[in-house]
Amino acid sequence: MSQNTGKMAAMIEQAEQDLLHTYNRYQIVLDHGQDVYLYDAEGKKYLDFMSGIGVFALGYSNAYYENALREQIGKILHTSNYFYNEPAIKAAHRLKEISGMDRVFFANSGAEAVEGALKAAIKYAYNKDGASDHQVVALEHSFHGRTYGALSVTGNKHYREAFGAMPCEARFAKMNDFESVAKAVTDKTCAIIMEVVQGEGGIVPAEEDFLWRVKNLCCEKDILLIFDEVQCGMGRTGYMYAWQKFGIKPDIMTSAKALGCGVPVGAFMMTQKVADNSLTAGDHGTTYGGNPFACAAINAVLDQYEELAITDHVQKTAPYLEQKLDELVAKYDFCIERRGRGFMQGLVCRGPVKGVIADAMERGLILINAGADIIRVLPPLVVTEKEIDEMIAILEPVIAAAV
Ligand SMILES: *Cc1c(COP(=O)(O)O)cnc(C)c1O
Repeated sequence: MSQNTGKMAAMIEQAEQDLLHTYNRYQIVLDHGQDVYLYDAEGKKYLDFMSGIGVFALGYSNAYYENALREQIGKILHTSNYFYNEPAIKAAHRLKEISGMDRVFFANSGAEAVEGALKAAIKYAYNKDGASDHQVVALEHSFHGRTYGALSVTGNKHYREAFGAMPCEARFAKMNDFESVAKAVTDKTCAIIMEVVQGEGGIVPAEEDFLWRVKNLCCEKDILLIFDEVQCGMGRTGYMYAWQKFGIKPDIMTSAKALGCGVPVGAFMMTQKVADNSLTAGDHGTTYGGNPFACAAINAVLDQYEELAITDHVQKTAPYLEQKLDELVAKYDFCIERRGRGFMQGLVCRGPVKGVIADAMERGLILINAGADIIRVLPPLVVTEKEIDEMIAILEPVIAAAV
């Protein structure tokens, strides 16, 4: 360990001279991981309850996943979308099965999946009336990504402010307030986009009644319903996709983050009706999207989800996490409320949580915030009750000391 001391400081200094400073990073260089633990370049161990912002569902160093990637590297990494490749054919079919959607487009990230979803909805409306001034209704506090289209529907003014006119005209409504959604809809509205559980915006789950009313409004007016399942999807709430808890099926949906478990992938999917009346050859494309390496990752992830019965595990284990977090809320004034679904939980606190997260990090626990006052708890989906106890044992004294 001693020969490593000081290693990180030098690397961080170098990074800060070279990388564009768009993040205030923790002063840690992560080096490797094993199961639900991460190790920094100086050998310090961390219990990870952030999972790379909801990416590492399987934890680190999953042998099956890594072998599948190695095997694919030995064959071919990339083909371009002018050809078919077997991993993509398999992955598309399996995604249809788990999502109940009919058509799949592979992208490289969540934001790109959202871009594609918006383009599909806008093209669908264009095919109906030939107009090119359609609007999208989105929710306040939503997060859909940093590219221009995705930014257009992201309900955080700070993120949009400096960047001028947005390509997609959005009207913002309130989560779980159907009247505000109904009011935001005009005869130019082509889609309503939302996360079933808002992530970045503070871990806010959509209520079933709200979702039904939005769904019915969409059906009534032939407005397309887009669920952004980039963060809340892939088993995180105990269902492969969060909407499946209620059976409220969207017309278009997105998936990314845990879909690749570390390999950058994204996808948007749609019903046959949307596919038949929206994007056609030449309307959308990507160089890397759906390449054999990325799709081998998706296939390996889905194999492991089946093998490890991930959604069952989340449904069985999440109540324990909820109970433990509820105990913190009951015991400490600093915590006001716990909310969330499955392994996507937020602890709403009485003040900024930055210090709490930094203290926890110091003691070897990685957490993340969602807004200034909310601690976001996003463990790898394979986490056990024992590891939840370990997390609480670190977090509790930190919370106790917080004011
Ligand atoms: C993270 C996230 C995105 C953006 O995904 P990237 O892969 O970072 O582009 C979009 N939507 C939601 C709900 C997200 O949580």
